[in-house]
Amino acid sequence: MQDTETPFLPYSRPDTGAEEIEAVARAIASGWVTTGPETAAFEREFAAYLGSDGHTLAVNSATAGLHLALEAVGVGPGDEVIVPTMTFTATAEIVRYLGADPVFADCDTATLNIDPAAIAALVTPRTKAVVVVHYGGLACDMTPILALAATHGLKVIEDAAHAFPTTYGGALVGTLASDATVFSFYANKTMTTGEGGLVVTRNEDYARRMRIMRLHGIDRDAFGRFQSRTPAWQYQVVAPGFKYNMTDVAAAMGRVQLRRIDAFAERRAQLAEMYRDALSDLPLVLPAYAPGSDRHAWHIYAIRHIDGPSRPEWRDRFIEGLAADGIGTSVHYIPLHRQPFWRDRYGLNAADYPRAEEAFASLVSLPLYTAMTDDDAARVIASVRRHVGG
Ligand SMILES: *Cc1c(COP(=O)(O)O)cnc(C)c1O
Repeated sequence: MQDTETPFLPYSRPDTGAEEIEAVARAIASGWVTTGPETAAFEREFAAYLGSDGHTLAVNSATAGLHLALEAVGVGPGDEVIVPTMTFTATAEIVRYLGADPVFADCDTATLNIDPAAIAALVTPRTKAVVVVHYGGLACDMTPILALAATHGLKVIEDAAHAFPTTYGGALVGTLASDATVFSFYANKTMTTGEGGLVVTRNEDYARRMRIMRLHGIDRDAFGRFQSRTPAWQYQVVAPGFKYNMTDVAAAMGRVQLRRIDAFAERRAQLAEMYRDALSDLPLVLPAYAPGSDRHAWHIYAIRHIDGPSRPEWRDRFIEGLAADGIGTSVHYIPLHRQPFWRDRYGLNAADYPRAEEAFASLVSLPLYTAMTDDDAARVIASVRRHVGG
């Protein structure tokens, strides 16, 4: 029964306030609006946060960043790129952008991250790269993945859309030994610029290529062109590039969000803790924690029913029950092997992804975001307890 006085609690809502509004207004008033000093400052500040000596390239989405990264490492027609099936379609579509073929890997049961053994089983002479996703904000087990990649000469790209700030072996994702890491600042991510993303790489050649391809294949960005002594009209087109630059309006917002990210992360961890404490006696599989003292970014709080695979209607009733209580939910993800395009284009068979299938059968994401109050979380908990069933 939904109390008509109780407002709907959406699945997600960005945490933005007066500071973000002020920063965006300042960017607009400055006259730059598009890529300029705010974007350059955002890139510097992001690198400083990571403590990285790598190159940081702000872009207009993580999808754009992933496309640039795969292009820079040389993925092209005829290549295969191993990707998880338990992810958003962007992780795989970028492979198709380059005329290469994604090869889908099953997940680990506990973490829902790509299974390193599944990657190993899919390597062929055509395999060029692996894209890993740190599902929900929990890092993949990168040590065996990087070792496997080194053995077979594969490039490793981290889709870190969920993983800011996440650590693995004490190091922030974005500073690990992969070829490039891509963050997302989409509206529902752990920090947002409305739309936006950022690529980090330590490789000088990849950084140079991505900088060029980010803006039409021109060998300098607009800011550099206006600042350098070279006449503004002089530039060279060296490739048919893309239009993937971040605007200063977005970057101004990102700079404020970045200053708040530690507080955001702490609040997310607190909410995750509340859920764990209040739900652990129920017949649910709760999200895995990061090992040791590593950090989970808690972008997604995905639960499953312990008997989910044998109760195919459970999730529908559960989601309807929460909705009736005024609570939004989501599902992360319908595995890509079930999506018509990927399934039909590559003849994918659900039987080849038993662990993703088992998890997907009852997977539901609960609201978890910093704009939620303790009372909001208590409402979610009460509703979950009411509708979980025996
Ligand atoms: C959100 C997301 C993306 C895409 O991010 P955009 O910034 O919206 O392009 C890619 N991969 C994963 C796993 C995501 O969750």
